[in-house]
Amino acid sequence: MESIKIKAFGTKAPDAELENMDIQRRNITANDVEIEILYCGVCHSDLHTARNDWGGTKYPSVPGHEIIGKITKIGNEVTQFKVGDLAGVGCLVDSCRTCDSCKNHLEQYCLNGFTGTYNGKDQHLGGHTFGGYSEKVVVNKDFVLRIPTNLNLPAVAPLLCAGVTTWSPLRHWNVKEGSKVAVVGLGGLGHMAIKLAKAMGASVSLFSRTADKTKDAIQLGADEVIISTDAAQMNSVKGKFDLIIDTVPSIHDVNPYLTTLTISGTLVMVGYLGGIEPILNTVPLILGRKSVAGSVIGGIAETQEMLDFCGKHNIVSEIEMIDMQYINEAYERMLRSDVKYRFVIDMASLKN
Ligand code: NAP
Ligand code: ZN
Ligand code: ZN
Repeated sequence: MESIKIKAFGTKAPDAELENMDIQRRNITANDVEIEILYCGVCHSDLHTARNDWGGTKYPSVPGHEIIGKITKIGNEVTQFKVGDLAGVGCLVDSCRTCDSCKNHLEQYCLNGFTGTYNGKDQHLGGHTFGGYSEKVVVNKDFVLRIPTNLNLPAVAPLLCAGVTTWSPLRHWNVKEGSKVAVVGLGGLGHMAIKLAKAMGASVSLFSRTADKTKDAIQLGADEVIISTDAAQMNSVKGKFDLIIDTVPSIHDVNPYLTTLTISGTLVMVGYLGGIEPILNTVPLILGRKSVAGSVIGGIAETQEMLDFCGKHNIVSEIEMIDMQYINEAYERMLRSDVKYRFVIDMASLKN
């Protein structure tokens, strides 16, 4: 298959810094859209992948799955987009389309494995897929999102992952007017969870490790902040929440949060991937019909629904714009939770 060489920024090993590199993008086929990338959000999953935290990273690795750009080419069979349109690409660029999950608009749970925007299996060129820290991306039309035109464009990028990853559980667990939602961790995902849950009519609480982010959380729409290391504060919200969204990226004790769930409440893990320690105590689960659940990103239809909702309610991410060359420092700052609340790369800087 024909391809073109483009500029990208990626890493060759888990302990190497990200640097300039060239990658190949396929020439568009009849059902493809080519997008010139304007902005790309920096998700904590980019860092996990670049450093092989989860195992299975294929190198060279070019992360980035919060992509906003302008369409530069379309294939013969593409009718829903035209050249010059704004477009978004999130975490998925394809799936099998035939399994039960795909037929039910749950491509993120494709039974044959979805194709990730990066580190996925490239069905066209062979090898693995490369993400949005690059000049251009070529994506099948069915995995391209429409972008509301009334929003600040760079601040829309994080909706493509942080937005939909929190939107999906809020919708699945039926959050509505009057629901009581809590969010654990105020980072990229956490701040979007607060904004979205608030706009859905829920009352929203934040669990944070320190009081440092209290003012910000309230400004973002939280009704209260509970310091998770303060036993008295934790006790004051016992039995309160219908849904808790836990965005913490590393191993941590989830037991203290279970007591803050109401009867039949659910704690949904979206951050940490792996075994839980200390051991999960089933007593509060059994005696309160509580659930501990998980959720991954969102399907394409659901992502579009979230983007349209954000357009209607004027919701975007709080961002710090960076140049591509700043990415290694940005990763270090993300590890220290020193970002308010999402880095977004101005992709024009890739040419520097
Ligand atoms: P982030 O911006 O780094 O935010 C994580 C937040 O968690 C921090 O701001 C911090 O908030 C809290 N935190 C960090 N370390 C902690 C620790 N050791 N103990 C307790 N709290 C801690 O990261 P993100 O981009 O939101 O991503 C969060 C996680 O979700 C990552 O692991 C990422 O890979 C994962 N993710 C999952 C999906 C999915 O589909 N399920 C999608 C995207 C990302 P406070 O300072 O307020 O405590
Ligand atoms: Zn992500
Ligand atoms: Zn499928």
